[in-house]
Amino acid sequence: PWLLTDLLRESVRRYPKRVALEFLGRRLTYEALWREVEAFAQGLQARGVQKGTRVAIMLPNSPQFVIAFYGTLLAGGVAVNTNPMYTPRELRHQLLDSGAEVLVILDQLLPRYLEVQKEVPVRLVVRTGLQDYLPFPKNLLYPLRLRRQGQWPPPAFGVAWREFLGRGSPSPVPLDLDDLALIQYTGGTTGVSKGAMLTHRALSANALQVRSWTPDFEEGKEVVLGAIPFFHVYGMTVGMNLALSGGASLILLPRPEIKAIVEAIEKHGVTLFPGVPTLYVAFNRFPGIEKRNLRTLKACISGSAPLPLEVAETFERLTGAKLVEGYGLTEASPVTHCSPLYGTRKKGSVGLPLPGVDAKVVDEEGQEVPLGEVGELIVKGPNIMKGYWNRPEETQRALKDGWLYTGDMARMDQDGYFYIVDRKKDMIIAGGYNIYPREVEEVLYQHPAVQEAAVVGVPDPYRGETVAAFIVLKDEYKDKVTREDIEKFCRENLAAYKVPRIIEFRESLPKSAVGKVLKRELAPQKAVH
Ligand code: ATP
Repeated sequence: PWLLTDLLRESVRRYPKRVALEFLGRRLTYEALWREVEAFAQGLQARGVQKGTRVAIMLPNSPQFVIAFYGTLLAGGVAVNTNPMYTPRELRHQLLDSGAEVLVILDQLLPRYLEVQKEVPVRLVVRTGLQDYLPFPKNLLYPLRLRRQGQWPPPAFGVAWREFLGRGSPSPVPLDLDDLALIQYTGGTTGVSKGAMLTHRALSANALQVRSWTPDFEEGKEVVLGAIPFFHVYGMTVGMNLALSGGASLILLPRPEIKAIVEAIEKHGVTLFPGVPTLYVAFNRFPGIEKRNLRTLKACISGSAPLPLEVAETFERLTGAKLVEGYGLTEASPVTHCSPLYGTRKKGSVGLPLPGVDAKVVDEEGQEVPLGEVGELIVKGPNIMKGYWNRPEETQRALKDGWLYTGDMARMDQDGYFYIVDRKKDMIIAGGYNIYPREVEEVLYQHPAVQEAAVVGVPDPYRGETVAAFIVLKDEYKDKVTREDIEKFCRENLAAYKVPRIIEFRESLPKSAVGKVLKRELAPQKAVH
């Protein structure tokens, strides 16, 4: 069967000498990567990890992340991706909820674990530092830098990476495509974070579906930039798994910083780049971007949140690279739709369902709505989760007859292209009218002074809810543009009931790890009207 580890093993067999990973100058060939993956799996098995044991991985993008993830799967375990930015409170929730017995963690993060250690079921901690794979002399400078920040030496706790890695091959574990590979917690953008149970089938399928959507993907030849975090399923599938199942070289960046990204694209001749809308905004604002050599890029993909049209068009104009928008959610491993790289791309559309994905737009009763009308998007396919870990009621609500209810409002046009209108939960009802914040945001982005915008509904005694806009202005427009200017612009472009009654300028917007605006954290400071 095509377990995810089989896909990697196949790349190892076909391209043993090709660079699989490059991390701050250190390279690992496919052959060398596989040796480490086996050693990690053997280390786990030697310490009692069996089929189904949960292994939490709390690491930034690094060779250790890739090795720990594939090593866990090879040992028959289930990976639990854990955001390295988690506070002790969030970490406790995830370790308790998933029942992880093993935690693989970056040295500097250990203090956060030690705070919750007594309350969680973890029995084995494997610690590692970036120095475990940094080339000399960077691995000497690294502790120096941490010492200056008061983060070195880390508490002596757990088993060190090099001691942990076993020798030889792990014992084969009989696994099925329907066995769990990963518990992936949802972004928590709209509420409590739930663990989506993703199987080997789901993860393998989605990596292959995305590959088939990239028609000029050349096996054994691509260079993929892994800048967005792998602990989020978008980076994991469209960065890590797409690359390693296709014999590509994966360039690892521990943090998605625009300068490092632009330099890495030039230096390594990156051909595929998965990113998020905020990163494309950063590209557009990067000084001298139009003069950089980004010609090697065959495709840039944007996912995880709506990509404003304006941002996409500016990016393509400035860089000459092709940017397509995809759509997905954690529960679908995550990609279900993408606009075609060739062929017709339609403005504002997330494109067509990927091969193997069925998609429909339905009403409250689950009946398909007439063509062109807005309803909830539901999807079906090999990439859909098994359910939420330990949450049968939430699972029942999300999965019906094999269809995943996405919680997103969408419409489909006569050519089968899908348009995400907004999240069901974000819809604002003001004075009896339905308002989709996204439409208002699209208008705001067209204003030349607006760098970023987020629109939310806030309680209002008369209208039930009212529309509030939070705006980050471009530097050169600060102090020059007023709220009245923005309001006037909105009045010219939107029906009166959609015009934000509250407009606030902010220095920045609160964002999640993948750069998604956290709307629940946005509350107005004062009303304008
Ligand atoms: P939670 O479900 O815990 O509230 P979350 O919804 O942010 O968090 P994710 O699975 O990370 O969890 O994000 C999926 C959601 O992101 C989708 O349901 C959709 O609302 C949004 N999304 C993703 N891609 C796009 C896109 N191209 N356009 C519009 N929205 C998108």
